[in-house]
Amino acid sequence: MTSYIKALVVREAGTAPAVEELRLPEIGPGQVRVRIRAAGVCHSDLSMVNGTLSPPHPLVLGHEAAGEVVEAGTGVTRVRAGSHVALNWSPPCRECWFCTHGEPWLCSTANVAALENGSTLDGAPVHVTLGLGAFAEQVVVPERAVIPVPDELAWESAALLGCAVLTGTGAVRNTARVAEGDSVVVIGLGGVGLSVVAAARAAGAATVIAVDVSEAKKALAEAAGATDFVVSSENLSKDIRSRTDRLGADHAFECVGRAATIRAAWRATRRGGQVTVVGMGRADDMVELSALDIFSSARTLRASVYGSSDPDVEVPALAQDVLSGALKLDHLITDRIPLAGVPAAFERMARGEGARSVVVF
Ligand SMILES: [Zn+2]
Ligand SMILES: [Zn+2]
Repeated sequence: MTSYIKALVVREAGTAPAVEELRLPEIGPGQVRVRIRAAGVCHSDLSMVNGTLSPPHPLVLGHEAAGEVVEAGTGVTRVRAGSHVALNWSPPCRECWFCTHGEPWLCSTANVAALENGSTLDGAPVHVTLGLGAFAEQVVVPERAVIPVPDELAWESAALLGCAVLTGTGAVRNTARVAEGDSVVVIGLGGVGLSVVAAARAAGAATVIAVDVSEAKKALAEAAGATDFVVSSENLSKDIRSRTDRLGADHAFECVGRAATIRAAWRATRRGGQVTVVGMGRADDMVELSALDIFSSARTLRASVYGSSDPDVEVPALAQDVLSGALKLDHLITDRIPLAGVPAAFERMARGEGARSVVVF
């Protein structure tokens, strides 16, 4: 049975995304069909359309989503029709070197920019962002790309757990291992950065300095638990030092994905401090550090991919935290929009307004 759905499609590089009708692929063994109920607009979606990344086209955007399983293919055991699920854009295979050495977030089969799945009504094959293409009424994905979540969890919360919240929380807990009493700088206050702020406070950080180019992020940063808010400027490292006993912070999290902000994060940390890059940047944006500085500052620079997490374990745990009230996500959602509202949400994001826009179906 062929299903037709509406989805947000970019026809060619450089053209605006538009809602169009598509043909879903038929469900195969080990696959599930999911009716999407909520999908967050993530910075990586913007990166798919603004030239930061070069995905194939036509392309369905969207990868931070939750929904209800409507059909499960033969051999599917983890969910059935009616199951509530969050989508996983980096589903581990459990067999490759990385998966069998405790690093499923680096699975060699995952993290693909776009896969072919479905077609346009005129028969052209369509690609889906990060194997999902979740700005769509329904998706057909492998069983391992869905994570069951409790029925009581709000769809919008479940959606955010699948990217921004897992990425931000994991960067703090798993990658950087922020400890009680640490000082933390967070540069870039989108959905991921605000999740880093909240997770750092929850981990017991004494000082959490939230940094953004937009003054308008101050209230959001404070709602997430920041102790300080700083508008980014040339004097950022001096400003950070004045708030951290002249030392610089124990940790800096770069949630933008640009060489300039990675350097700013580097300079914001103390000698021996840790810089964690969470933002995804361009291939040709080079970070310049001096050889002497790398040695004498004794800092650590590393990246956090998908929060260095195992989503199958950590998304259900985060869902319980949301249900118990230990993890609050409401402040992250600043706009609820229809599918056709995504391009305007990209513009708000580029202007530095708001936190997460969520498409509600
Ligand atoms: Zn994302
Ligand atoms: Zn693997």
